[in-house]
Amino acid sequence: MLLHKIDEVRESIIKWKKEGLTVGLVPTMGALHNGHLSLIKKAKETCDKVVVSDFVNPIQFGPSEDFDKYPRTLDADMELCNETGVDIVFAPSANEMYGEGQRLSNDTLTYVCPPFFYVNKLCGKSRVGHFDGVCTVVLKLFNIVQPDFAFFGQKDAQQVIVIKKMVKDLNVPIKIVQCPIVREESGLALSSRNKYLSEAGKQDALVLSKILNNIKVCYNRGITDTDALKETAYGFLTDKHEMEYLEIVDKETLEDKKQADDNSIALIACRVENVRLIDNIYLKED
Ligand code: AMP
Repeated sequence: MLLHKIDEVRESIIKWKKEGLTVGLVPTMGALHNGHLSLIKKAKETCDKVVVSDFVNPIQFGPSEDFDKYPRTLDADMELCNETGVDIVFAPSANEMYGEGQRLSNDTLTYVCPPFFYVNKLCGKSRVGHFDGVCTVVLKLFNIVQPDFAFFGQKDAQQVIVIKKMVKDLNVPIKIVQCPIVREESGLALSSRNKYLSEAGKQDALVLSKILNNIKVCYNRGITDTDALKETAYGFLTDKHEMEYLEIVDKETLEDKKQADDNSIALIACRVENVRLIDNIYLKED
């Protein structure tokens, strides 16, 4: 069922809660692919009812980012959600989410600001204010849907860490479930932004997963010095790659590491054909 209005969603939720049913929320920006579907499947396994939000959130995009051209494929998304047995697809307008004619700024709206320590690095460093926008919309969706469980992908590793921190710090009574990264057979992590890439660009984009896999192999062979591990990336890069960051940090606290250990995660952001791509890997799988 496709719903655009907050009140309509709340009506269903109240009914389900009265019946004692559990609710799972999968927040997305649409342009759904198999990565999103893995979250939806996990939600279906875990909960009686599943809500998918499909909303390109303007306040998490910077002024020079791709908000306008971000792929919007609601009809195709609906088909996939119907096939997977999603109960509600919530696709609000920006006016519905933030108020008619509301200026989208923290001068006029209440924002949720995650701690500086968690956002002054990795994606937060170049995307200033991005995680304020993410936390704000996610907390709003949590309040609208009041799910028992919410599902996020490890693909956006910093995002899920920041959201877990918000949930803990603000006593939000929702269990966050993190789902593994879904990749193409080639190793490329699925992303709605892969649509921007040419076939050649997709080949060049394989460098992200190759660099990360190689770091993992080197770590498991005994190299722990993070500078040495990061240096292994240079062999893979060509003039087709514009590296933004490659970091090895603690997978729960995002603390920098001089020496990698079994709790480390390597994260990369790199532009290919001017498309900003991200990926990450745990150096030791759980
Ligand atoms: P997005 O629509 O890009 O905001 O993503 C919505 C959710 O899907 C986020 O929790 C993402 O981490 C997750 N997601 C996106 N791509 C993947 C992927 N390749 N594998 C697993 N989860 C993903």
